[in-house]
Amino acid sequence: MRYSDYCLQRFGHRIQKLTVNAGFGCPNRDGTLGMHGCIFCNNDAFNPSYCQPAKTITQQIDDGIRFHSHHHHQQVGYLAYLQAYSNTYAPLERLRECYEEALEHPLIEGLVIATRPDCVDEPKLDYLATLAQRHYIMVEYGIESCYDRTLQRINRGHDYACTVHAIEATARRGIPCGGHLILGLPGESREEMVAEAALLSQLPLTTLKLHQLQILRGSQLEKEYLQDPSSVPPPFALKEYIVLVCDFLERLRPDIVVERYAASVPPRYQVAPERGWKHPDATPVKGSELADMVESELASRNTHQGIYYTPKNIHQ
Ligand code: SF4
Repeated sequence: MRYSDYCLQRFGHRIQKLTVNAGFGCPNRDGTLGMHGCIFCNNDAFNPSYCQPAKTITQQIDDGIRFHSHHHHQQVGYLAYLQAYSNTYAPLERLRECYEEALEHPLIEGLVIATRPDCVDEPKLDYLATLAQRHYIMVEYGIESCYDRTLQRINRGHDYACTVHAIEATARRGIPCGGHLILGLPGESREEMVAEAALLSQLPLTTLKLHQLQILRGSQLEKEYLQDPSSVPPPFALKEYIVLVCDFLERLRPDIVVERYAASVPPRYQVAPERGWKHPDATPVKGSELADMVESELASRNTHQGIYYTPKNIHQ
């Protein structure tokens, strides 16, 4: 199921996420766990220009609604998307103020809260569970990889057991969980990437975002790449990535809603691939077109998401 269909089913109308930067930090950047962050990270690349922590959350939501208004000719609802850095990384009182300011906005129907798995605890999850009784609340966890070896290599600062614990503790409270996974991280074979589908299928995930590895300007990975390009896997060609994603989807639990298949950032942030994927006429491939390509590859194989999924995959 596409994410747009999931929203239609859940809310009865289209949903537009409005990115909000509440000014939270990250323990992997403030010295608590490290100073340099995950090697692939440059948060600025994903932050829309209207979205600055100097503005109140209400102002950012109003600006976001104005920014998106010309796209919508039909009924649309809004979710505040706390995306930048780790949006549960603050004392509970501060989280309460931010989340409740967003939820008080008359056009906001819920929150999507992006965070690290090591930035939630029982009191925070209990609080989210009370909010979730009245509002749509989704916690979106940065998983990035299911392999501890990779998580160390990318300087993530937590292991996969931490991810499993956070997602299970969240879902147990009735809060839907999203996940974010990067395909193409250094040191992972293609088989290992495909096998992550079976591992993630064991988790109570509602949604999943897949991203291809990109080397972003200002990231640690850029430094590594400039010193030694061979230390970083070459970027996926478009067709190669579509085939990989389809192999992954065939092994993924069928009810997990795949929200996106790839990331895109403004060209000024791209180091490698130097430019995003292109059509033969040199126009950029949009996210919705990539989704169409993935669907037509699955159709040409006469398969679908989850065709090779079995609950026992993890034990095989
Ligand atoms: S990816 Fe997330 S967790 Fe990693 S350094 Fe960036 S903000 Fe922190």
